[in-house]
Amino acid sequence: MLENIRVVLVNTSHTGNIGSAARAMKTMGLSQLVLVDPVSPPDGKSSALAAGAGDVLANARIVDTLEEAVTDCGLVVGTSARSRTLSWPMLEPRGCGEKLISEVPKYPVALVFGRENNGLSNEELQLCHFHVCIPANPDYSSLNLAAAVQTLCYEVRMAYLNLTRSQHPENHPENTEYPLSEDLEGFYSHLEQTLIKTNFIIAKHPGMVMTKLRRMFNRARPESQELNILRGILASIGKTTSNKE
Ligand code: SAH
Repeated sequence: MLENIRVVLVNTSHTGNIGSAARAMKTMGLSQLVLVDPVSPPDGKSSALAAGAGDVLANARIVDTLEEAVTDCGLVVGTSARSRTLSWPMLEPRGCGEKLISEVPKYPVALVFGRENNGLSNEELQLCHFHVCIPANPDYSSLNLAAAVQTLCYEVRMAYLNLTRSQHPENHPENTEYPLSEDLEGFYSHLEQTLIKTNFIIAKHPGMVMTKLRRMFNRARPESQELNILRGILASIGKTTSNKE
């Protein structure tokens, strides 16, 4: 799924930023990097900053134009540090991650980043279906290119993890088995008997201990399996205390 999410860097001037962007991508599980007309191709500085993401850098495709980079994409999102004169459908970073993940099963999708000095041109922004702006400090909203790549790739990863987690049935709370009231009551009386046996509760002056323990266990809402463990613990205490008698 993540292999079809493309990060496109347009006309990047600092080769170090290309390496840092590759690293940012790999940490979030993305690998498709496309460089549109970089001022210089990746070099030693790029490799140094890519660190363990040398593979992403080595597989980076270099093309001449943004059109070429996104020609087979069904969804193209452009990034911008500021709102432009021409308003365009906007996404929040979180919504951007979710949208890319929801559409990527159908076709490749792209996130497009601009030049360090002046971002994406209006013509380039108009090749995009949506724009996304990281809502940074209004007095200084321009992130370093690789930092912007990291932030948006992180949102893509969060959306991806949410989706994969929600597909695992064991993560659905409705699949958790909880004990019935009678089982809980059985546990509470077993607990009380045990605490009386160990003299933690004095039968004639029980105080509020059981009420407070009930409140605590009800707050924790033990699952059936957990209640079995607790019953097992009480049974083991019962065995050792009766051995001593
Ligand atoms: N001075 C440029 C900013 C360039 S920063 C301008 O005003 O457009 C380099 C790139 O990092 C931008 O083109 C964009 O792709 C990304 N970027 C930086 N800050 C961003 C932000 N707050 N939201 C979205 N993308 C951002």
